[in-house]
Amino acid sequence: MKKLVLLGPPGSGKGTQAEILSLKENFVHFSTGDLLRNEIANRTEFGKQIKDFLEKGLLVPDEMITDFIIEYIRKNDLYNKNVVFDGFPRRNFQAKRLDDELNSHGISIDKALLIDIDEKTIIERLSSRLICSSCNKIFPGDYEEELCDICHGKLIKRTDDNIDVIKKRIDVYKNETSELLDYYLKKGILVKIDGKKNTQQVFEDIKRMVL
Ligand code: ADP
Ligand code: ZN
Repeated sequence: MKKLVLLGPPGSGKGTQAEILSLKENFVHFSTGDLLRNEIANRTEFGKQIKDFLEKGLLVPDEMITDFIIEYIRKNDLYNKNVVFDGFPRRNFQAKRLDDELNSHGISIDKALLIDIDEKTIIERLSSRLICSSCNKIFPGDYEEELCDICHGKLIKRTDDNIDVIKKRIDVYKNETSELLDYYLKKGILVKIDGKKNTQQVFEDIKRMVL
């Protein structure tokens, strides 16, 4: 069973590609952002603690997020499944804890995929995209229908997809998350993919390079 980590700035297409992997290639889409937004929507104790960080585009503190994620992995027994990690890890601390957890079950991350893309394109994509309010599917700005094509849910803008928070999230990626590239490069499992290509082409590249 394969374990993939998706890396790349916000708006690079991680969520979209992870979704295709789950629909076509039998992967569990581990969407950290969706998990956290559900906690907030359900007003859990953890949701209350993290709300401010998400609204400001800041990372949830390492210990807090990592404990939550590792517990989720255990509860859902993800060890014997194909999993694509989207949004976790986001710092070396988190990556090490994830490695430790998987290693203690005799498994490890197979590949870390960097979806590479320039800043101008990201900003255009994020400021125009919508998501489904009930199933979280992502829709590009040029999508012409008003409702989700999967579940007919209403399409809404993510509250952190406004220009100030987008810029903050890109900064956070550059300053805090990009350390992971070195981490996975040193392990010899980093694979780089051109994220400017269209969705289908990016998916073909992923299939060719890691499946
Ligand atoms: P994007 O990749 O588009 O910025 P996500 O939906 O993956 O968005 O994450 C949204 C927000 O959730 C982040 O801006 C951050 O506040 C929080 N978050 C998600 N994953 C992590 C993580 N691994 N560590 C800390 N905070 C996180
Ligand atoms: Zn939907």
